Amino acid sequence: MNFKDLGLSEPILRAVGEQGYDTPTPIQAQAIPAVLQGGDLLAGAQTGTGKTAGFVLPMLQRLMQGQPLRDKRGRPAIRALILTPTRELAAQVEESVRTYGRHLPLTSMVMFGGVGMQPQVDKLRRGVDILVATPGRLLDHHQQGTLDLSQVQIFVLDEADRMLDMGFIHDIKKVLAIVPAKKQSLLFSATFSDEIKALADRLLNQPALIEVARRNATADLIAQKVHPVGREKKKELLAHLIKSGDWHQVLVFTRMKHGCNRLAEYLNDHGITAMAIHGNKSQGARTKALADFKSGDLQVLVATDIAARGIDIDQLPHVVNFELPNVPEDYVHRIGRTGRAGASGEAISLACLDEEIFLRDIEKLIKRSIPRETIPGFEAPASERAEPIVLGRMTIGIGGTRRNAGGGGGRPGGGGRPGGGGGRPGGTGGGGARAPQAPRSGGAPRGAAAPAGGRRDGGRGPRPGNGTPSRGRG
Ligand code: AMP
Repeated sequence: MNFKDLGLSEPILRAVGEQGYDTPTPIQAQAIPAVLQGGDLLAGAQTGTGKTAGFVLPMLQRLMQGQPLRDKRGRPAIRALILTPTRELAAQVEESVRTYGRHLPLTSMVMFGGVGMQPQVDKLRRGVDILVATPGRLLDHHQQGTLDLSQVQIFVLDEADRMLDMGFIHDIKKVLAIVPAKKQSLLFSATFSDEIKALADRLLNQPALIEVARRNATADLIAQKVHPVGREKKKELLAHLIKSGDWHQVLVFTRMKHGCNRLAEYLNDHGITAMAIHGNKSQGARTKALADFKSGDLQVLVATDIAARGIDIDQLPHVVNFELPNVPEDYVHRIGRTGRAGASGEAISLACLDEEIFLRDIEKLIKRSIPRETIPGFEAPASERAEPIVLGRMTIGIGGTRRNAGGGGGRPGGGGRPGGGGGRPGGTGGGGARAPQAPRSGGAPRGAAAPAGGRRDGGRGPRPGNGTPSRGRG
């Protein structure tokens, strides 16, 4: 199959050709004709599959085929709205809109929080055909009367599962209430939980269904390896691997923001240029870190899952799980950063005894075992025993138990600190929030219960103090 067979117009095909793509990816081959037909779409696809072009290309074509709409003042009205969970993804999607639409007379804009409102207001005033936005800032503009969504014809929810994970469901519902009921809606999600199905039911009308092979089924190009390591030796091992392998462009994942900062500091102290990227960083700092990393000036980017979401760097050679994620799907998202678009890559996990439970869940999900390779000198001392990892209210214990230590509900979060009950800050090796002692029984550590208002989620959840989903990224 060739892009020419998909019914796209010449200026779009030219832009695609200039990107060097000749063959549509499976999601593109299916989504493009479906969207061109004008119906709704429910697509199961994640980053790395080429999904962005899968909705942007037919969207551009449909906008070109339709009548240009004008707002009350005679400027282009917003006809397409794309919602994304994170700023980075919003910026990347809008960049794709500009790239693929470079030969078309359409205007686009990206809108997210953490930067001034006024430049966005000015840009809106000049007229925009395609708006790519995160939900929080979009609603802020709507409330201030600076945004008119009454003429939206195409609505895309990108990475809908992530949006729900980040607590954006109420914001999404508010957005749905202000866009016209009659529109073409496209929903992209890597996973289909009951919540996503409920959202799809509400949003979509007789959608075409597309599901492309998940990366966990197709990640053959990614060489995966686990280095079992002593709990206190992780940082040292990482520095050793980077130096001895002369690695550049290494994306390193931690579970929590503070572990992220400390690890970046450690690497810099050891002659490896590194920067941390997470939701507490200013947008300017995040943009600069990404740019330096892409250009090769920065050897290592240390990121939390959320911050890394949507980072699109082709042919990233090395992804390192400094800490394994407690949500196994995050492993798949993480390693999807390497071996993209046909290039090979390497995904390394540094796993201490405490993380065996995570490893088991991951291997179950990807339906394969990941080869272990111990690096001499970095193995766990014979006396080391597994300790449970406390993630906010959730204690993930040794021996495969997961139990709720605080009585609160919810999905196990991206990592939290043990609360005031005397837990040692998760310091060693950046290894996250760990209980001070081995459990007495059943995996529950002493003094590990999180306070009611404590952080439940280091990477993607509520801000400390106010208990509301972070708009910082949105
Ligand atoms: P996405 O899943 O949309 O984040 O895209 C993943 C990566 O694949 C991006 O770097 C795209 O530039 C690239 N890509 C998208 N479509 C194609 C294609 N048909 N051929 C080769 N690379 C592509």
